[in-house]
Amino acid sequence: MTATIPLLSSVEAFLAGPLSLRIGGHRLDGDGEFDVVDPSTGGHLCTVARAGEREVDLAVAAARRAFDGAWSALTADERSKLLWRLAELIDERAEVFGQLDALDNGKPFAVARDVDAAYSARHFRYFAGWPSKIEGATIPVSEPDRLNYTKIEPVGVCGLIAPWNYPLLMAAWKLAPALAAGNCVVLKPAEQTPLSALYLADLALEAGFPEGVLNVVPGFGTEAGAALAAHPGVDKVGFTGSTATGRRIVEASMGNLKKVSLELGGKAANIVFADADLEKAIPGAFWALFGNNGQSCTAGARLYVHSSIHDRVLEGLIGLAAKLSVGPGMAADGHDLGPVISERQMRTVTGYIDSGVSEGAECVAGGGRLGKEGFFVAPTVLTNVADDMRIAREEIFGPVLCVLSFDDEDDVLARANDTDYGLAAGLWTQDVTRARTMASRLKAGTIWINCWGETDAASPFGGMKQSGYGREMGKDAIALYSQTKSVWLA
Ligand code: ADP
Ligand code: MG
Repeated sequence: MTATIPLLSSVEAFLAGPLSLRIGGHRLDGDGEFDVVDPSTGGHLCTVARAGEREVDLAVAAARRAFDGAWSALTADERSKLLWRLAELIDERAEVFGQLDALDNGKPFAVARDVDAAYSARHFRYFAGWPSKIEGATIPVSEPDRLNYTKIEPVGVCGLIAPWNYPLLMAAWKLAPALAAGNCVVLKPAEQTPLSALYLADLALEAGFPEGVLNVVPGFGTEAGAALAAHPGVDKVGFTGSTATGRRIVEASMGNLKKVSLELGGKAANIVFADADLEKAIPGAFWALFGNNGQSCTAGARLYVHSSIHDRVLEGLIGLAAKLSVGPGMAADGHDLGPVISERQMRTVTGYIDSGVSEGAECVAGGGRLGKEGFFVAPTVLTNVADDMRIAREEIFGPVLCVLSFDDEDDVLARANDTDYGLAAGLWTQDVTRARTMASRLKAGTIWINCWGETDAASPFGGMKQSGYGREMGKDAIALYSQTKSVWLA
């Protein structure tokens, strides 16, 4: 048994519960409860209220009341102050959020605190500045004696459905722009990771948000999630998750033609050219995949290495993989990576490793489950990967890096773009012209050149092709949660 970080007394008190629904400023029982598993041990972590159709109804009604009442009555300045105050509280409670995300997601506590919580606070701070800057326009229409102007209005009630890979941060990506634009929200966290969302709902009340502005309905995708996506009282759904589930959400949205934005899967190509600075490119390509244990939609999953440097890069990657420490999210000595999220995900990931090897790939690091307790997978590097193997085409969402080799720039570009996904892509080169050309020709919503994984609340993020539609972050995210009204005055 390795030592674990002691729980903060506030985390202990929070976990003692009841971990009930947060609706209209109240704590309500669900339609039964569900168990949350600790991925670091495989054991029971806690029991959380389970929202079904009826509870989603209540949450949507609470959000509508707040939207028709207290929330829309606030000035832009008052909304700014609340968002800023919430950002400050997230920073103050970064350790609490760090522990909650480390417990149910399994990621290292220090990462959950310094990345997930810190970036969530920044996100709210960035969007805190927006309410007073959401401007319409006066339009020079050709009709004489008419004033025409636009108003940018909130959509109304937004259903936000979040994934488990960055429990707090992915919720923050949606909540901050939705609230800044003047909407009220019902947030459904992933069933694997409901804790930080529930705590955030409490913090929003502490910050002074009116009751009903931010409601949280933990539960299953096929129950609470499906009910939210289909609900006639929901004006917009913001979703991050798998492409398969994204399709279901679009189908469910058809009843009332609610607005939908989707941030879905990916299979990002990361290209290392012969002229790359390998001191940076090798660790860069390594962490492009192994960051967050490969459980990122932007993971640099297909690593294309120029044949002239292939062996050197591979050797570097194997060396880095050998040095990684993997262990429980709350381990006192701190690990680089935690477990994958669930037993099912562990089976999926190790299944992909086996499928790659059976299709002819060579496993040069890792290769399967680590230990017998918890859902740990050894950081795995597969080489001799061909473009048509399943491991090169399908999103694995785990610590498995596929290394491919190339000779020609046009050829690697075509191979990189030969995917249904288009969330992110990247390259490593010291040639500025090549960098700019590739950035234009790669079909993905984000391109990283000589870096990977960087995001900022101010910079738009989202997918091309089947990686989704809409851009989160920056001014695009305000547009995503707003609608334009054209006013004619005679
Ligand atoms: P995974 O299968 O890896 O858990 P999903 O895309 O299914 O990824 O999950 C992302 C989020 O979508 C979670 O909050 C999940 O509960 C939710 N979800 C899953 N299925 C549905 C559905 N049919 N309708 C709405 N939300 C769903
Ligand atoms: Mg699913």
